[in-house]
Amino acid sequence: MTVTAQPVPILSDNYAWLLRDDTSGAIAIVDPAEGPPIIAAIEAAGGRLDLILLTHHHADHIAATDEVRARFPAPVVGAAADAHRLPKLDQAAKEGDEVHFGNATARVIDTPGHTRGQINYFFPDGEVLLAGDTLFSLGCGRLIEGTPAEMFSSLRKLAALPGGTKVCAGHEYTEANAKFALSVDPDNAALRAMAEQVHRLRAAGQPTLPSLLADELKANPFLTAPDVATFADRRARKDRF
Ligand SMILES: [Zn+2]
Repeated sequence: MTVTAQPVPILSDNYAWLLRDDTSGAIAIVDPAEGPPIIAAIEAAGGRLDLILLTHHHADHIAATDEVRARFPAPVVGAAADAHRLPKLDQAAKEGDEVHFGNATARVIDTPGHTRGQINYFFPDGEVLLAGDTLFSLGCGRLIEGTPAEMFSSLRKLAALPGGTKVCAGHEYTEANAKFALSVDPDNAALRAMAEQVHRLRAAGQPTLPSLLADELKANPFLTAPDVATFADRRARKDRF
Protein backbone atom coordinates (compact mmCIF):
# COMPACT_ATOMS: atom_id res chain seq x y z
CA MET A 1 0.00 0.00 0.00
CA THR A 2 1.45 3.36 -0.91
CA VAL A 3 -1.22 5.99 -0.35
CA THR A 4 -2.87 6.39 3.03
CA ALA A 5 -5.60 8.88 3.93
CA GLN A 6 -6.33 10.61 7.23
CA PRO A 7 -9.41 12.77 7.87
CA VAL A 8 -8.84 16.31 9.16
CA PRO A 9 -12.06 17.58 10.79
CA ILE A 10 -12.75 21.20 9.78
CA LEU A 11 -15.65 23.67 9.99
CA SER A 12 -18.79 22.09 11.50
CA ASP A 13 -18.95 18.71 9.76
CA ASN A 14 -16.44 18.77 6.87
CA TYR A 15 -13.39 16.62 6.37
CA ALA A 16 -10.27 17.71 4.54
CA TRP A 17 -8.06 14.68 3.81
CA LEU A 18 -4.33 14.41 4.40
CA LEU A 19 -2.76 11.92 1.97
CA ARG A 20 0.66 10.40 2.40
CA ASP A 21 2.65 8.52 -0.22
CA ASP A 22 4.50 6.08 2.02
CA THR A 23 7.20 5.33 -0.58
CA SER A 24 8.39 8.95 -0.84
CA GLY A 25 6.96 10.69 2.24
CA ALA A 26 5.14 13.13 -0.04
CA ILE A 27 2.00 14.75 1.37
CA ALA A 28 -1.15 16.05 -0.32
CA ILE A 29 -4.18 17.81 1.13
CA VAL A 30 -7.71 17.55 -0.25
CA ASP A 31 -10.34 20.33 0.04
CA PRO A 32 -8.54 22.78 2.38
CA ALA A 33 -11.44 24.96 3.53
CA GLU A 34 -10.12 26.07 6.94
CA GLY A 35 -6.53 27.20 7.47
CA PRO A 36 -5.44 26.59 11.09
CA PRO A 37 -6.44 22.91 11.53
CA ILE A 38 -5.10 22.02 8.09
CA ILE A 39 -1.81 23.84 8.59
CA ALA A 40 -1.49 22.10 11.98
CA ALA A 41 -2.15 18.70 10.38
CA ILE A 42 0.51 19.33 7.70
CA GLU A 43 3.01 20.46 10.38
CA ALA A 44 2.25 17.31 12.41
CA ALA A 45 2.86 15.20 9.29
CA GLY A 46 6.36 16.66 8.89
CA GLY A 47 5.75 20.14 7.48
CA ARG A 48 5.90 19.39 3.78
CA LEU A 49 3.16 19.72 1.20
CA ASP A 50 3.45 18.44 -2.37
CA LEU A 51 -0.05 18.85 -3.81
CA ILE A 52 -3.45 20.41 -3.13
CA LEU A 53 -6.51 18.64 -4.59
CA LEU A 54 -9.94 20.26 -4.91
CA THR A 55 -13.15 18.27 -5.53
CA HIS A 56 -15.56 21.15 -6.24
CA HIS A 57 -16.17 24.86 -5.97
CA HIS A 58 -18.22 25.13 -2.75
CA ALA A 59 -16.65 27.40 -0.13
CA ASP A 60 -16.65 24.65 2.52
CA HIS A 61 -14.17 22.77 0.30
CA ILE A 62 -11.90 25.52 -1.10
CA ALA A 63 -12.00 28.58 1.20
CA ALA A 64 -8.47 28.29 2.65
CA THR A 65 -6.70 27.11 -0.53
CA ASP A 66 -4.76 30.36 -0.94
CA GLU A 67 -3.96 30.53 2.79
CA VAL A 68 -2.54 26.98 2.75
CA ARG A 69 -0.51 27.49 -0.42
CA ALA A 70 0.88 30.75 0.91
CA ARG A 71 2.22 28.78 3.90
CA PHE A 72 3.25 25.65 1.93
CA PRO A 73 3.75 26.45 -1.77
CA ALA A 74 2.28 23.49 -3.71
CA PRO A 75 0.48 23.08 -7.02
CA VAL A 76 -3.33 23.09 -6.98
CA VAL A 77 -5.47 20.67 -9.01
CA GLY A 78 -9.19 21.17 -9.69
CA ALA A 79 -11.85 20.58 -12.30
CA ALA A 80 -11.26 22.13 -15.72
CA ALA A 81 -15.03 22.55 -16.06
CA ASP A 82 -15.14 24.82 -13.00
CA ALA A 83 -11.77 26.58 -13.35
CA HIS A 84 -13.60 29.95 -13.56
CA ARG A 85 -14.98 29.55 -10.03
CA LEU A 86 -12.08 27.76 -8.30
CA PRO A 87 -8.86 29.21 -6.85
CA LYS A 88 -6.11 29.59 -9.47
CA LEU A 89 -5.32 26.10 -10.77
CA ASP A 90 -1.91 24.72 -11.75
CA GLN A 91 -3.58 21.66 -13.28
CA ALA A 92 -7.12 21.81 -14.71
CA ALA A 93 -8.27 18.18 -14.67
CA LYS A 94 -10.96 16.18 -16.42
CA GLU A 95 -12.15 12.56 -16.74
CA GLY A 96 -9.27 10.15 -17.23
CA ASP A 97 -6.48 12.61 -16.44
CA GLU A 98 -3.72 11.60 -14.05
CA VAL A 99 -2.63 13.53 -10.97
CA HIS A 100 0.72 12.92 -9.28
CA PHE A 101 2.43 13.57 -5.96
CA GLY A 102 5.57 11.73 -4.82
CA ASN A 103 5.34 8.28 -6.45
CA ALA A 104 1.54 8.25 -6.22
CA THR A 105 -0.80 8.58 -9.16
CA ALA A 106 -4.56 9.23 -9.07
CA ARG A 107 -7.08 8.92 -11.86
CA VAL A 108 -9.59 11.75 -12.21
CA ILE A 109 -13.27 10.77 -12.40
CA ASP A 110 -15.87 13.32 -13.52
CA THR A 111 -18.92 12.99 -11.26
CA PRO A 112 -21.45 15.75 -12.03
CA GLY A 113 -24.64 15.86 -9.95
CA HIS A 114 -23.95 17.76 -6.72
CA THR A 115 -22.16 20.40 -8.84
CA ARG A 116 -21.51 20.59 -12.59
CA GLY A 117 -17.73 20.36 -12.32
CA GLN A 118 -17.40 17.84 -9.48
CA ILE A 119 -14.37 15.57 -9.80
CA ASN A 120 -13.19 12.67 -7.66
CA TYR A 121 -9.69 11.23 -7.40
CA PHE A 122 -8.90 7.51 -7.18
CA PHE A 123 -5.47 6.19 -6.14
CA PRO A 124 -5.30 2.52 -7.25
CA ASP A 125 -2.22 2.01 -5.03
CA GLY A 126 -3.86 1.99 -1.63
CA GLU A 127 -7.39 2.02 -3.12
CA VAL A 128 -8.18 5.52 -1.87
CA LEU A 129 -11.15 7.46 -3.29
CA LEU A 130 -11.57 11.17 -2.62
CA ALA A 131 -15.33 11.24 -3.02
CA GLY A 132 -16.01 14.94 -2.36
CA ASP A 133 -19.74 15.59 -2.08
CA THR A 134 -20.67 12.85 -4.58
CA LEU A 135 -20.65 9.75 -2.37
CA PHE A 136 -21.05 9.86 1.41
CA SER A 137 -21.13 6.92 3.78
CA LEU A 138 -24.75 5.67 3.53
CA GLY A 139 -25.69 8.72 1.46
CA CYS A 140 -24.89 10.95 -1.50
CA GLY A 141 -24.67 14.66 -2.25
CA ARG A 142 -27.71 16.83 -2.87
CA LEU A 143 -28.52 17.56 -6.50
CA ILE A 144 -27.69 21.26 -6.42
CA GLU A 145 -26.59 21.67 -10.05
CA GLY A 146 -27.24 18.30 -11.70
CA THR A 147 -30.05 15.90 -12.60
CA PRO A 148 -30.89 12.54 -11.02
CA ALA A 149 -29.69 10.80 -14.20
CA GLU A 150 -26.30 12.56 -14.00
CA MET A 151 -25.81 11.70 -10.32
CA PHE A 152 -26.96 8.11 -10.84
CA SER A 153 -24.39 7.75 -13.63
CA SER A 154 -21.67 9.36 -11.48
CA LEU A 155 -22.40 6.97 -8.59
CA ARG A 156 -22.30 4.00 -11.01
CA LYS A 157 -18.72 4.98 -11.94
CA LEU A 158 -17.68 4.99 -8.28
CA ALA A 159 -19.53 1.72 -7.62
CA ALA A 160 -17.34 0.05 -10.26
CA LEU A 161 -14.14 0.67 -8.25
CA PRO A 162 -12.64 -2.23 -6.22
CA GLY A 163 -14.63 -3.30 -3.15
CA GLY A 164 -11.64 -2.59 -0.91
CA THR A 165 -11.71 1.09 -1.87
CA LYS A 166 -11.60 3.47 1.09
CA VAL A 167 -14.32 6.10 0.60
CA CYS A 168 -12.96 9.45 1.82
CA ALA A 169 -15.97 11.77 1.66
CA GLY A 170 -16.30 15.48 2.33
CA HIS A 171 -18.70 15.39 5.28
CA GLU A 172 -19.45 13.53 8.50
CA TYR A 173 -23.14 12.97 7.68
CA THR A 174 -23.15 9.24 8.32
CA GLU A 175 -25.33 9.06 11.43
CA ALA A 176 -28.17 11.09 9.84
CA ASN A 177 -27.70 9.16 6.59
CA ALA A 178 -28.08 5.88 8.50
CA LYS A 179 -31.46 6.96 9.89
CA PHE A 180 -32.74 7.70 6.39
CA ALA A 181 -31.23 4.51 4.96
CA LEU A 182 -32.98 2.42 7.64
CA SER A 183 -36.29 4.07 6.72
CA VAL A 184 -35.78 2.90 3.11
CA ASP A 185 -34.37 -0.56 3.82
CA PRO A 186 -35.18 -1.55 7.44
CA ASP A 187 -34.48 -5.27 7.02
CA ASN A 188 -31.03 -4.89 5.42
CA ALA A 189 -28.71 -6.74 7.85
CA ALA A 190 -25.53 -5.15 6.44
CA LEU A 191 -27.06 -1.70 6.87
CA ARG A 192 -28.19 -2.43 10.42
CA ALA A 193 -24.71 -3.61 11.37
CA MET A 194 -23.16 -0.49 9.82
CA ALA A 195 -25.67 1.79 11.56
CA GLU A 196 -24.79 0.26 14.94
CA GLN A 197 -21.08 0.70 14.27
CA VAL A 198 -21.63 4.31 13.18
CA HIS A 199 -23.57 5.02 16.37
CA ARG A 200 -20.73 3.57 18.49
CA LEU A 201 -18.09 5.58 16.64
CA ARG A 202 -19.99 8.87 16.90
CA ALA A 203 -20.76 8.28 20.59
CA ALA A 204 -16.99 7.97 21.08
CA GLY A 205 -16.34 11.12 19.02
CA GLN A 206 -14.64 9.13 16.25
CA PRO A 207 -14.95 9.69 12.48
CA THR A 208 -17.00 7.13 10.54
CA LEU A 209 -14.83 7.67 7.47
CA PRO A 210 -13.23 6.33 5.46
CA SER A 211 -15.79 3.60 4.87
CA LEU A 212 -15.31 0.56 2.64
CA LEU A 213 -16.90 0.65 -0.79
CA ALA A 214 -17.91 -3.03 -0.46
CA ASP A 215 -19.98 -2.10 2.62
CA GLU A 216 -21.52 0.92 0.87
CA LEU A 217 -22.55 -1.29 -2.06
CA LYS A 218 -24.59 -3.44 0.33
CA ALA A 219 -26.03 -0.73 2.56
CA ASN A 220 -26.09 2.70 0.88
CA PRO A 221 -29.62 3.26 -0.51
CA PHE A 222 -28.27 5.46 -3.31
CA LEU A 223 -25.92 2.69 -4.49
CA THR A 224 -28.51 -0.08 -4.12
CA ALA A 225 -31.10 1.89 -6.15
CA PRO A 226 -31.58 -0.29 -9.25
CA ASP A 227 -32.50 2.49 -11.69
CA VAL A 228 -32.66 6.26 -12.11
CA ALA A 229 -36.35 6.50 -11.12
CA THR A 230 -35.73 4.72 -7.80
CA PHE A 231 -32.64 6.82 -7.21
CA ALA A 232 -34.56 10.05 -7.94
CA ASP A 233 -37.38 9.05 -5.60
CA ARG A 234 -34.96 8.25 -2.75
CA ARG A 235 -33.00 11.46 -3.26
CA ALA A 236 -36.22 13.53 -3.18
CA ARG A 237 -37.39 11.73 -0.02
CA LYS A 238 -34.02 12.31 1.64
CA ASP A 239 -34.31 16.05 0.90
CA ARG A 240 -37.55 16.10 2.94
CA PHE A 241 -36.46 13.61 5.62
ZN1 LIG B 1 -20.59 20.80 -1.87
